[in-house]
Amino acid sequence: MTPQRLGQHFLEDSSVVDSIITAADLKPTDTVVEIGPGRGALTGELVNRSGRVLLIEYDTDLADRLEARYDGKPNVRVLNADAREFGSDLDPWLSEGPYKVVGNLPYYAANPIVRNFLESTRKPDSMVVMVQREVARDMAAQPGDMSLLSVAVQVYANAEHVIDVPPECFNPPPKVHSSVLKLSPTPEPTVRFESAEDFFNLVRKGFKSPRKQLHNSLSDGLFIALQDARQLVELTGFETSRRPATLSLADWQVLYDTWVKQGRPQQVAGSTRRKRTESIEGIHRDG
Ligand code: SAM
Repeated sequence: MTPQRLGQHFLEDSSVVDSIITAADLKPTDTVVEIGPGRGALTGELVNRSGRVLLIEYDTDLADRLEARYDGKPNVRVLNADAREFGSDLDPWLSEGPYKVVGNLPYYAANPIVRNFLESTRKPDSMVVMVQREVARDMAAQPGDMSLLSVAVQVYANAEHVIDVPPECFNPPPKVHSSVLKLSPTPEPTVRFESAEDFFNLVRKGFKSPRKQLHNSLSDGLFIALQDARQLVELTGFETSRRPATLSLADWQVLYDTWVKQGRPQQVAGSTRRKRTESIEGIHRDG
């Protein structure tokens, strides 16, 4: 990939570096993973303030330069790897104890990188990450503005806005604004589900038509009759006029529990799809 494709916008503003380092709240005993260290705008401070630093850089030339810079420092390791694929549960430093993540993330890969760490079996204690401003808003959104990404992040972590960062703070400047977020993973997911796949199957389908009312969106996503989707929402006790973006994590818990109790009604997309007005028997089985 070309440097542009790799999202190489290097940070040149020391006050932004200070804000990121302060938010990371590092201790001399900490193990830190830096994602996309690039030319090292954050790396020096991370090395000075923590015990061990693992650098994950996808660009081979930049990884080689970092390797040369930190040659002979046993507390710094450089991995020339894709942070979307990196397995924190397999790394010897991270499987030993707690660790923190810091990174000015490449825009194109920010979501998969964040989710890779939040969904891993060895989750970090905290993640301080710079992402595109709209993505940061989405990740930290409150009920009213929630999306699939908000739910996907907040099931695993509390999200706190740190600062907004304008394009002039980078070289070359990106076309968009950025924000720094602090994500603090919760000990357990904030929703109880049989498996993440099962829960997100419902959430993804609930957001199928985000501008529509919840029962319409669920009907579109689950391929069930409109009246069955309305009945499903009524069983939760929610107003049927609500839109998916208004649901809190606690509301998703109620909807998920109701959906499970009803036998997870859904049709496989592309199968002999029933007309939206036709009722699917069994949806009200237990309710
Ligand atoms: N940390 C540096 C800074 O703040 O100046 C560079 C940040 S730059 C926005 C993103 C960095 O992530 C680049 O160095 C880029 O090569 C690297 N990168 C891009 N895709 C990556 C991936 N999938 N995994 C790890 N690093 C990646």
